[in-house]
Amino acid sequence: MTDCLFCKIIRGEIPAKKVYEDEQTFAFEDIDPKAPTHVLVIPKKHIAGLKEAAPEDAEVVGRCHLTAAKIAQQRGIENGYRTVLNVGPGAGQSVFHMHVHLLGGRSLSWPPG
Ligand code: AMP
Ligand code: ZN
Repeated sequence: MTDCLFCKIIRGEIPAKKVYEDEQTFAFEDIDPKAPTHVLVIPKKHIAGLKEAAPEDAEVVGRCHLTAAKIAQQRGIENGYRTVLNVGPGAGQSVFHMHVHLLGGRSLSWPPG
């Protein structure tokens, strides 16, 4: 998508601190971190959000989570981290290119707000 913020980050048109990239997924530091580790993992394919994901997107949705797990392992935060998908404006989704938040490096309370 031409004017999607995260598609522009993937294309390098907007600067971001890239953490990881493979064939299907891309990860970068969140610009406004809510934890010592706050990385966004996104599919390279533009999918607006989880509720817009189609059956054929199942693999890439899963791959985003596996990328998050790999980064968590690399960062040594496996004692406890959280992956979060905010789905829809009512849950705080503000960028409509699906993204998995990887949060860790501090204790995380439950339930989330
Ligand atoms: P959400 O509110 O779940 O849609 O998450 C969007 C996330 O994107 C927020 O945590 C923002 O801080 C983050 N964000 C917005 N713009 C950028 C950017 N240019 N680079 C990195 N992260 C961003
Ligand atoms: Zn996009």
